[in-house]
Amino acid sequence: MPKPTSKLLAAGLAAAVALPAFPAFADELNLYSSRHYDTDERLYSDFEEMTGITINRIEGNADELIARMEAEGDNSPADVFLTVDTVRLARAKDLGLLQSVESDVLERRIPAYLQDDDNQWFGFSQRSRILFYDKTDVENPPQTYQDLASDDYEDMVCIRSATNVYTQNIVAALVAHLGQEPVADWAEAVVGNFARSPQGGDTDQLRGIASGECDIAMSNTYYYARIVRKGDDQISSEQLENIGWVFPNQNDIGAHMNISGGGVAANAPNRDNAVRFLEYLASDQAQEYFSAGNDEYPAVPGVGLAPSVASLGIFRPDTIELSEIADNVETATRILNEAGWE
Ligand code: FE
Repeated sequence: MPKPTSKLLAAGLAAAVALPAFPAFADELNLYSSRHYDTDERLYSDFEEMTGITINRIEGNADELIARMEAEGDNSPADVFLTVDTVRLARAKDLGLLQSVESDVLERRIPAYLQDDDNQWFGFSQRSRILFYDKTDVENPPQTYQDLASDDYEDMVCIRSATNVYTQNIVAALVAHLGQEPVADWAEAVVGNFARSPQGGDTDQLRGIASGECDIAMSNTYYYARIVRKGDDQISSEQLENIGWVFPNQNDIGAHMNISGGGVAANAPNRDNAVRFLEYLASDQAQEYFSAGNDEYPAVPGVGLAPSVASLGIFRPDTIELSEIADNVETATRILNEAGWE
């Protein structure tokens, strides 16, 4: 009776495949991360203690990690890819480096607009990209992103370069909301209002206000909140007092948000551990670390804010689907280049 035998054999094989082939690796998680914040240590060590899963961290900048995963291909040991900004998550997805995840926990905890359409990535923390200004120089600060194009702010605006993902992200959001043509005109006018050629990181934009080089600057909230919490050697407490901020577009689209997020790698050897780790990142405890440790806004509604973050005040966030922003990044980058935005 060859048929039943082969059936049994097939069933036996299936069972064998379902068992962990290499028990030694069963309690590991290979985390490819471009988050580089000291306070993330707690995130990882608490997960290890809770689950007994050892996290092997491979850290680098996002582009390097993406290139590495591409080069490793099917044999990549990556289980989870964690990074900052929708642009990079979308790029990883487009390159086939991530896989869809079905998780009730993630579906329930992470708001839909912070999830990829195909559940290939999820946002775990948020930051708002807002406007800061010198209170001693600017009587009527811009109230919207569109206002940055106004003649009132000639030679006043400091902002990051066109190659920076934060810049690409917000311009992509504006394209999604306003359309290509208005944003192209806007970008050209904003370039005309630059106080200096785009340079440095977000903290450098805030330092530019302190030094007097910039009157208006764009930065993510967490850089400012970090200075409030820890100080900065180039910004005195008096200079910090003179920096005001505006959450833009409170009467219409809301203040632009970008995220830190992650997904499960396409060929994750420890897939279950990877999903468990993402679910952990959505837990109250991990969400509080994001806020307390790195001055970010939790992705999960109702989780308490760190004092440095709460001090910025309540605001209306832009809740556009991040997938929609991702779809417009290419257009945004072209617009920036055509506007001569360095
Ligand atoms: Fe950043």
